[in-house]
Amino acid sequence: MEQTKTIQEILNRIHDNIAETCTQCGRSSSDVRLMAVTKTVPPERVNEAIACGVTLLGENKAQELCAKYDAYQKEHVEIHFIGHLQTNKVRQIIDKVTMIQSLDSIPLAKEIQRQCEKHNREMDCLVEVNIGNELTKSGVSTDELDDFLAQAACFDRLHLRGMMVIPPIFTSDLEKERCFADLQKLFIDIRAKKIDNISMDFLSMGMSDDYLLALKHGSNLIRLGSVIFGRRNYN
Ligand SMILES: *Cc1c(COP(=O)(O)O)cnc(C)c1O
Repeated sequence: MEQTKTIQEILNRIHDNIAETCTQCGRSSSDVRLMAVTKTVPPERVNEAIACGVTLLGENKAQELCAKYDAYQKEHVEIHFIGHLQTNKVRQIIDKVTMIQSLDSIPLAKEIQRQCEKHNREMDCLVEVNIGNELTKSGVSTDELDDFLAQAACFDRLHLRGMMVIPPIFTSDLEKERCFADLQKLFIDIRAKKIDNISMDFLSMGMSDDYLLALKHGSNLIRLGSVIFGRRNYN
């Protein structure tokens, strides 16, 4: 019978995989940031991952973040928001996260600006781009991206630092790779335009099933949940 692996063993394995893939594509693995996605995971398990060296957490739900926040051992940890964010929830998370990766509407940008002014702070944001997700409405479509960036860049408390994508579920590796390749191309094109208040530093793509594919297409922030913590229990 296979023994259950500890979080440390799992993380070691993931780091080995990242290093191997980066070597294959001639990249440095030190450019890749690993996020542990904590949805449905009890804080004790999250703290176990932190004790094993995890320095970045990804949170999907404002309510869940608020419930678990105080229990996290977060002296050396950053938290990014990665889930769909309703404008009326921004105030709950504004003082708890260092980045919002799921910026997908101008009303949301406006509310982040408003809450930043109130809390006298600034916020790094990634634009969530919708590539190939015809069924979900989450993310800015590629047709609207230029317009969206031009408008979002006007909010002076927000700093647009890159892009995030969630590929459509139930698609083949080939289709996922196409999605990653498309976003990488957009990322490079937009970076080359050098727009004021937009710096394309982070390309956030790749989850448990596809992070090695994403690394091949320039991802420098991978978001891993189930591969670290095991299958989620939503009950
Ligand atoms: C849940 C989630 C992840 C992690 O998914 P896994 O497949 O468990 O690694 C990554 N990004 C976002 C936005 C998520 O909601």
